[in-house]
Amino acid sequence: MRAFAPRPSLRLSRLAQRLALAAVALVSLGACSDEAPRGQESELTLYTTREPALVQPLLDAFTAQTGTRVNTVFVRDGLPERLRAEGERSPADVLMTVDSGNLLELVEGGFTQPVESTVLEAAIPAHLRAPDGQWFALSLRDRVLYARKDLQLDGFAYEDLAKPEWKGRVCIRSGQHPYNVSLFAAMLVHAGEAATETWLRGVKDNLARKAAGGDREVARDILGGICDIGIANAYYVGRMKNSEPGSEQHQWGEAIQVVRPVFDSAEHGGTHVNISGAAVARHAPNRDNAVALLEYLVSDQAQSLYARANYEYPVKAGVELDPVVASFGTLASDPLPLQEIVAQRRKASELVDRVGFDN
Ligand code: FE
Repeated sequence: MRAFAPRPSLRLSRLAQRLALAAVALVSLGACSDEAPRGQESELTLYTTREPALVQPLLDAFTAQTGTRVNTVFVRDGLPERLRAEGERSPADVLMTVDSGNLLELVEGGFTQPVESTVLEAAIPAHLRAPDGQWFALSLRDRVLYARKDLQLDGFAYEDLAKPEWKGRVCIRSGQHPYNVSLFAAMLVHAGEAATETWLRGVKDNLARKAAGGDREVARDILGGICDIGIANAYYVGRMKNSEPGSEQHQWGEAIQVVRPVFDSAEHGGTHVNISGAAVARHAPNRDNAVALLEYLVSDQAQSLYARANYEYPVKAGVELDPVVASFGTLASDPLPLQEIVAQRRKASELVDRVGFDN
């Protein structure tokens, strides 16, 4: 799965990682936690690949409610490597990350442990958590259709992207980006390899420009008249529409409508989603507190705040939505178990190359 993880980058982040490691080592030295009974420290350590600003308000609320202090360690990349290096002495209690591939990589690496919780099971639909409690989705990142505002669309299927009527009218980022690899992997599960390859060739034929850039550039290029439709994550619309009025991004966001596609090939195919999610770490020194944090994160209030922080969609039904997100209607997510999608990602990536999607 490593091939699909977001590109690690900068030397700076390596340095930051080393500094953080050193800091963690110091904290562990001082804690002598081996002697203390588990779960009584009233603290826990969260390793997160998410921007701390997104989760900090929630962690503060959790601490206020439970008295449990949360040590947040921001791990920009290399989370599995770090957990491997720390081994049994890892202070991590909760692991939080984005993208089902990244989360399942932690499970496959043996860095998580099963959790049984009726609270988590009641809040999170079965296809959005591991059957054995090794991971849980906390928010959804639906991959949707951006369309020119004046287009009359009566619903849309991902399969439609390959229809001849869209020739020269479709914009999308690189087919090898994890967001697209995940979507194509879901198509593989629904429609099989032959149909998915044909579909991908059709989409490639319909592109208005090279598959490149980011998701927001789909909106930009719709405004610029380069394309009429495209595929991108819904949360970027929240970001664009909430940016400074009059700014470029605001104009891009205002130029499009959002339609949530479904899979035609599936009997009950909903909209493709990726996730942010969390797991309890294999060697969690504060396991009970870790479970308590996860359970807090699926409370109505936390779900709303957590999802709204990045214009994502809550995993729990009936939770208050951000107004922009609410304007897209209710999300019916594709009921495919996420682990089935992740299992097809390598093949999806190979298909992208085979059809020359990015050429
Ligand atoms: Fe993104």
